[in-house]
Amino acid sequence: MRILVVGGGAIGLLSARLLAEQGVDLCLLDQGALGSESSWAGGGIVSPLYPWRYGAAVTALAHWSQDFYPGFAERLLEATGIDPEVHVTGLYWLDLDDEAEALAWARRQGRALHAVDIAEVRRRVPVLGQGFAHAIHMPGVANVRNPRLVKALQAALAAMPNVQLREQCAVSGFIQENGRICGVTTAEGEIRADRVVLAAGAWSGELLATLGIELPVQPVKGQMILYKCAEDFLSSMVLAGGRYAIPRRDGHILVGSTLEHAGFDKTPTEAALASLKASAEALLPALKEAEVVGHWAGLRPGSPEGIPFIGELPAHPGLWLNCGHYRNGLVLAPASCQLLTDLLLGGEPIIDPLPYAPAGRLGF
Ligand SMILES: Cc1cc2nc3c(=O)[nH]c(=O)nc-3n(C[C@H](O)[C@H](O)[C@H](O)COP(=O)(O)OP(=O)(O)OC[C@H]3O[C@@H](n4cnc5c(N)ncnc54)[C@H](O)[C@@H]3O)c2cc1C
Repeated sequence: MRILVVGGGAIGLLSARLLAEQGVDLCLLDQGALGSESSWAGGGIVSPLYPWRYGAAVTALAHWSQDFYPGFAERLLEATGIDPEVHVTGLYWLDLDDEAEALAWARRQGRALHAVDIAEVRRRVPVLGQGFAHAIHMPGVANVRNPRLVKALQAALAAMPNVQLREQCAVSGFIQENGRICGVTTAEGEIRADRVVLAAGAWSGELLATLGIELPVQPVKGQMILYKCAEDFLSSMVLAGGRYAIPRRDGHILVGSTLEHAGFDKTPTEAALASLKASAEALLPALKEAEVVGHWAGLRPGSPEGIPFIGELPAHPGLWLNCGHYRNGLVLAPASCQLLTDLLLGGEPIIDPLPYAPAGRLGF
């Protein structure tokens, strides 16, 4: 079987890897460089920001993936020499309004999440700003260095003899024959396959519109800033008022993020820079003395309730979706891509596929 994957972000790369490991002939296309869009731009927290505010569909994918991540990163490091740096730091949420709901959710889900006295938080995170009154803590939460994750996935795929990677190759539409999708059109001509997987992130809706299908996946711009501090500057992720700080192992600190509806514009703005710096300095006042060494924006593939679309389009057999992961595409990638692989190759699905099925959700 020959499979074409459209889009080389975390979702397309990992879908390609899992499918190719099953021996299929695989071609992955990207309109730009592989792994250079949202999957590069994101923060890499291996958890939804407020996991208790999501429904069961997102939780099921998140929990499966969280258990998978450490071994997955080790296998990628072994295969490629590139370390995705899964860094288990834990996460403190400060001054939440819905702390009780969060704690009740964790009890129901059997996840470790506890209230911590603010004096104890200050002891453990001495660089934390003043003025916070209460906190909850999830010790097991990790972050992944997503630019390295996508680089490792790309290297792993490049080493597989049954995989072809094509960059700078924009898909403009789909080829249909006898009621089936059997390839895509590009500026370089038609490319044919037995199955096409659409994993084009925020651009997925635009591509499906060429078939007259309205997919509710919209770009949601997110800006981030980056500092470089001493390796031991911050030991844990911290989050307050929708803004978070993520420590990488080498002392880089990411602070994010904005949520903006600005179409496909990815230009970083001065207003966001000022706002993110103010949040960073409120969380960690010592950052006032530090230099911002990076500032960028990415386009999240926004979807209703953040639930991705995973499965075949019934009206267009041969066309499979794996897109719409909104704010959680890095944490949800392992389960989403495994589920897609199971469904596409006829294996036993790892979780109930119904909540993600395009069939029910697109009204046909
Ligand atoms: C600021 C920010 C912070 C984030 N923080 C986190 C976090 O902490 N944790 C988390 O889990 N998630 C986070 N996310 C979300 C996460 O980054 C996304 O959900 C995820 O990267 C989506 O992956 P993707 O592969 O679907 O999309 P992308 O990485 O955007 O990949 C889509 C690919 O499709 C290609 N493409 C598009 N159109 C075409 C075409 N016509 N032809 C060929 N190729 C095409 C693009 O070039 C691109 O490479 C964050 C996102 C942002 C922006």
